[in-house]
Parts: sequence; C-alpha cells; structure tokens
Amino acid sequence: MKRRKFLKNSSLSTAGIFSASILSACETDKKHPLVNEILKPIVIATWDVPNATNKAWQVLSETGTALDAVEQGVMIEEADINNQSVGKGGRPDREGNVTLDACIMDKDSNCGAVVCLQNIVHPISVARKVMEDTPHVMLAGKGAELFAYEKGFKKENLLSEKSKAEWIEWKKTSKYKPIINIENHDTIGMLAIDRKGDIAGACTTSGMAYKIAGRVGDSPIIGAGLFIDNEVGGATATGVGEEVVRTVGSFLIVELMRQGKTPQQACEEGVKRIISKNKEKLDFQIGFIAINKNGETGGYCIQPGFTYRVYSEKGHVNNKASSYIST
Ligand code: ASP
Repeated sequence: MKRRKFLKNSSLSTAGIFSASILSACETDKKHPLVNEILKPIVIATWDVPNATNKAWQVLSETGTALDAVEQGVMIEEADINNQSVGKGGRPDREGNVTLDACIMDKDSNCGAVVCLQNIVHPISVARKVMEDTPHVMLAGKGAELFAYEKGFKKENLLSEKSKAEWIEWKKTSKYKPIINIENHDTIGMLAIDRKGDIAGACTTSGMAYKIAGRVGDSPIIGAGLFIDNEVGGATATGVGEEVVRTVGSFLIVELMRQGKTPQQACEEGVKRIISKNKEKLDFQIGFIAINKNGETGGYCIQPGFTYRVYSEKGHVNNKASSYIST
C-alpha cells in the first residue's frame, strides 16, 4: 500500500531459508500426531505489512507458538511511528489523545483485551497480560494503563509530530468522515498456525481517526474484530468497526467455516451479511481475512483496495482481496 513506507524486505529470499529449516524440522517431527500434509506453519495479516508477517514467520520457524508469533508480529507495526493506524504514531481522537485498542486469543479460547489505552506502545502485550495474569478478559482506559505500569510497561508519548500536525489541520473543519482505504481503516489483524497445528490471533489499532473520545470499535472485541476456535480456524477484521460489531463478524466467519465453508467463502458471506444491513449506503470499507485448520486462507472486502499478507513455506505474498464493489 502506498500509505506506509516499509523497509525493503527480504521476504522471498528468507522464505527459502526458513522453508528448508521447517521442512527438516517437520521431518524430525513426523511422530507428532498433528504434523501432516496440512500447510503449517503459516501467518496471515490484514494489509501489506511484510515486516510484521516476516517477524511472525521467524517466530514460527524457530518453533515458536502461534501466540508468540502473532504478538511479536503485530508489535512491529505498533512500534512503527510511520504507521499511523496502530500503536505509537497512531492518529488521535478528536481531543488529540492517541487511544489504543487490542485483543489476543489463543488455542484454548483464552483471550485478553484492552480498550482506550493511552501512553503504552504495545497494547497487544498488555492484552496478553490481561489474558494470562488476571481472571478478566478486558481492561479499559485508566485501569488498563495502571495495570500496564504494574506489569512493567513504560509510559510514552504516542502522538507523533506528523499525527499531531494532521490533527491540528483536521480541527479546522472537524469533519468526521472516514475515507475509504485511507489511513483510518488500518487495523492490523494477524492469524497464525504453528508447527503443532495450533491457532492464535491478535488484533491492534488506534481506531478510527478523530473518533469521539471514548469510542471503541470492533478491534478489541472478541468475536467482532477477532475470533479463534482451534478446532476450526480464525478470522479478523479491518474497517468501520461499528459495522463489524453489528454482525459479530469474526465469530460469524469462524462459524461459517465450522459449517463447511472455505475461508474465502466465509469471508464473502461475512461481508455480504454487513452489506445486507446497509443496502442504502455502501460508502465504507470492511475487510475480513480468515484461515482454517488446514492452513487455507481467504480475504474479502466491500471496496477495492484491501490487501492481506500471507507467509508460508510457499512464499511471502501480498494478496489483493476481491471486493463486493468492483473497480
Ligand atoms: N476497525 C477499526 C475500528 O473500527 C478501524 C480500522 O480498521 O482501522 O476501530
């Protein structure tokens, strides 16, 4: 995507090196009951985020778990100040505060989430701590921030000079109108299957740019922005979160796969469900990606322009998702 500047990546050459090591690792692992012909490990992410999928692939290649892979993968984007849709450098709400939402879900259906978190670069890691170190699923606002400090996370200013300057410019008109595929539809959702065949997912965002203070979208909501069922597969979303919440989009897609749909068919059905509730005004973007237990993937969106990255032993590819509205 033009919107982000990424370091030149060495994805295809590293694909060769990693696939060789994975193939030999699988050779020695033949007795593992879950290792078979199914395509794994594999990672898939919303948008063209080669550095993030590359990181996740490294973790998976070094026998890491899917959970570690998705956390470390999306952390790359959270730390990238040039990515104005997640983590540090994210676009603020209309008061000028960067508020972050994230969730994570593992193979045992454990999950953790943070909403409206300020001053912490890696909301995904705080979400993981909520999942692993508390009896709760979701922490919000100041409570989430205090919890993060307790867990050793450092306080940092997240508002970059660029995002601040754009916000000051935006305030001149204060018009809240999301622009399709332009910067305010950039949640990073990531799904991975590790060598054991276990699935995990992560989703992280700064939300819609210039949102009302306190607004939370789909991205940290388990079932809406992300859902994993280790017996079936996983799904995650990007785009106008209010619409995804209304149909519990990611849960719907996993359930459709449970009923026998491929990831591609399930994503198409998920998008069409949203369309059926919005017949009069299809002026927004939604993109879904999904993966099933066999390592098959799919992606679909309303408007053209959504892409998703897949990294497996077959290579590291940015896929153009097919769209309901054609170009
Ligand atoms: N889904 C996000 C939200 O509604 C926005 C995005 O995908 O950028 O907060």
